[in-house]
Amino acid sequence: MTEDATGTDMPAQPEVPARMAAARGSRNDHTRRHNLSSLVTAVHYGGPLTRAQLTRDTGLNRSTIGGLVTELAELGLVIEDAAAETGAVGRPSLIVRPRVDVAALALHPDVDALELGAVAIDGTVVARRRTSVDAPPTPADAVAFAREAARDIAAEMPGLRVVGAGAAVPGLVAIDGSTVVAAPHLGWRDVDLGAALAEVFDFPIAVGNDANMGLRAEWSFGSARGVDTVVYLNGSASGIGGAALVGGRMLRGGRGYGGEFGHMMIRSDGDRCSCGRSGCLETELNAHRLDAAAHDAPAFDALASTLATAIANLECAFDPDLVLLGGYLGALFDARRDLVAARVRELAFRPDAEDVAIARARLGRNRLLIGAAERAFAPLLEDPAGVPLVAL
Ligand SMILES: [Zn+2]
Repeated sequence: MTEDATGTDMPAQPEVPARMAAARGSRNDHTRRHNLSSLVTAVHYGGPLTRAQLTRDTGLNRSTIGGLVTELAELGLVIEDAAAETGAVGRPSLIVRPRVDVAALALHPDVDALELGAVAIDGTVVARRRTSVDAPPTPADAVAFAREAARDIAAEMPGLRVVGAGAAVPGLVAIDGSTVVAAPHLGWRDVDLGAALAEVFDFPIAVGNDANMGLRAEWSFGSARGVDTVVYLNGSASGIGGAALVGGRMLRGGRGYGGEFGHMMIRSDGDRCSCGRSGCLETELNAHRLDAAAHDAPAFDALASTLATAIANLECAFDPDLVLLGGYLGALFDARRDLVAARVRELAFRPDAEDVAIARARLGRNRLLIGAAERAFAPLLEDPAGVPLVAL
């Protein structure tokens, strides 16, 4: 690590000593910001940690950690206190905790409901407002709801400081992280949701695809923690969303539309899909068909086999360490684990297919809120001293 870098390898410029000092200062500042980032990232993912654990996790030395913790406390991002119980003789160990009054807002507009949550920097959903809707909400409905719900949460939690907001949308989101290009189930097309939300909020807004944000949440705090290559399929009221993490990076595609696995073709003679094609996974294996097959074992098994076909196709394409299933696909998998696993093995291309883990996502109804908040937290984790917190 370079936390003690003193700039001794700077190129000598004896004729301009002031410039040299400035360059040295800026590099020390860069190192300090990098170390602040390492520390706040460790606490974000790891929760309350002792200084000894931080030393181990970040590779920084103890005296450096002390100064950085003081600075993060002054920035209002962490608090440090004595552990409740140490079990050891001597001075109690100091615990560095993320402050739970630092939060990101997370908005999820869906066909049957609007939801806004406040997610603390430790990944906990600390407040939530949800309203059911009879018809898919318009973008204006979503923005008006977000403003009202945020006011409500601010009244409930005075002192909450917000870093930004994320919005998880069931549709294609442009690579600008702001424009919803098409959300067919909501009936939205070319909607700059980021700009509309920026008119009512004084902090940065990040708009993304709901499945990408769901996988991000499971990777940060759920079933995919620490796994580098993950394929994710989620069944919900708005169809089947897909996302893939490849070698630790979220698959985006050239324009940001990668991972639409719900529209992979499963049956060339299948039913017409909302996308205009026929036999897509989200049409062949939708929530209505699953409900209808609940008391018809052969039909239910056939749907489990369809899920296995999709998984086998994705394994050919991505060679994942983990296939993660959420929503009604997670429930279907739980009900027919053996059948799905056996069918995937039968169809598998890779010789060691039995090594591929298939698991159910576990963050449940918090998943999209946490994932959207993760996007809003990203700049703060990158540069804790450079991103302002705004009173809600
Ligand atoms: Zn389709």
